[in-house]
Amino acid sequence: MAEIAFRNVTKRYGSVLAVDDASFTVADNEFFCFFGPPLSGKSTILRLILGLEKPDSGEILIDGRAVNEVSPAARNIAMVFQNLALFPHMTAADNVRFPLVERREAPAKIEARLRDAAEKLHIGHILHKMPGQLSGGERQRVAIARALVRDPAAYLMDDPISALDARLREETRVELKRIQREAGRTLIYVTHDQEEAMSVADRMAILQNGAIRQIGRPVEIYDHPSTTYVARFLGSPVMNILPVQATGAGFEAAAGALQVSAQAQAGVAEMGLRPEDLRVSAWEGGAGVPATVSEVEPLGGYTVVTLTAGAQPLRALLRGQPDIRVGALVGLGCDPAKVMYFGAGGEALPKSAVPSLGGDRI
Ligand code: ADP
Ligand code: MG
Repeated sequence: MAEIAFRNVTKRYGSVLAVDDASFTVADNEFFCFFGPPLSGKSTILRLILGLEKPDSGEILIDGRAVNEVSPAARNIAMVFQNLALFPHMTAADNVRFPLVERREAPAKIEARLRDAAEKLHIGHILHKMPGQLSGGERQRVAIARALVRDPAAYLMDDPISALDARLREETRVELKRIQREAGRTLIYVTHDQEEAMSVADRMAILQNGAIRQIGRPVEIYDHPSTTYVARFLGSPVMNILPVQATGAGFEAAAGALQVSAQAQAGVAEMGLRPEDLRVSAWEGGAGVPATVSEVEPLGGYTVVTLTAGAQPLRALLRGQPDIRVGALVGLGCDPAKVMYFGAGGEALPKSAVPSLGGDRI
């Protein structure tokens, strides 16, 4: 069992602030994701947990005990490297046995652990094969099995499936979720892929320049982003964020083309509309906000439509393949309850502070 926590941890490399006053607690058995763009400090956080790096300040705790001075081996945390890390001249079974053989465990124990890991990872039928004869997904599972037999307190994975193709990535992340649930172990997972983070994580932390901007369940963060940075970072296509001006009756954006009647509140600088919350219908004069279609991207199950309302570009995500053509005039709508508001510093304003008065044009 392992609960892993940072208390105000900072790590610098020369003048680079790699981890900036980070605090979090990953619960025992939790699937926790660190999600951020390249160079945001994700790998550094994992190296600090493993003990390969020491923080400049702050505390790292495992099960409530400070481990700043504890060696990596004594922390008993396993890093699962990408599939490339398998020994090419050993069978899958020997690869999985390896950490136990190295520790000189009794052969009966080694075989029992191997069987157990092979069952959990569904690799019993490929144990006799060499890594070169395995698919990418199978190699990945063997690599995880090798970490599993060590019986670590927690696993860390650094962008483990980014090298796989899209189809395999989807399959592997479903597998990972199952394995973590069945193995009942803490798993800390790093990714720069938002779909991956959203789909696997029990909770996640969003990083920006080494600082944690928000921690929560994926859908909670999606629905209630703390800043425009987080709001833009989750969701595809990205959230529409428009500068707004307060009017007597509420707010307007796009040079008056979009009107939201809401109780005026000081400090609202921008509003956010998720593409899937926009409604687009044929323009019949009066229904919704008039907008012109400038781009249509049919994706099969969905269609992304780029529109212009009063010179303001907006993107809408529509289900299926609606009959919408470039150049058409359409009526744009949105449930006012779905509109988000942000202050001048990009901070989200509580919705309760901006109650809608109804009668909205968008
Ligand atoms: P990520 O994994 O999110 O891409 P990293 O943790 O690797 O980010 O890096 C965070 C920041 O720290 C980056 O600016 C990176 O250049 C810097 N950094 C990481 N490791 C080192 C190192 N060993 N020496 C100097 N700078 C480093
Ligand atoms: Mg990295």
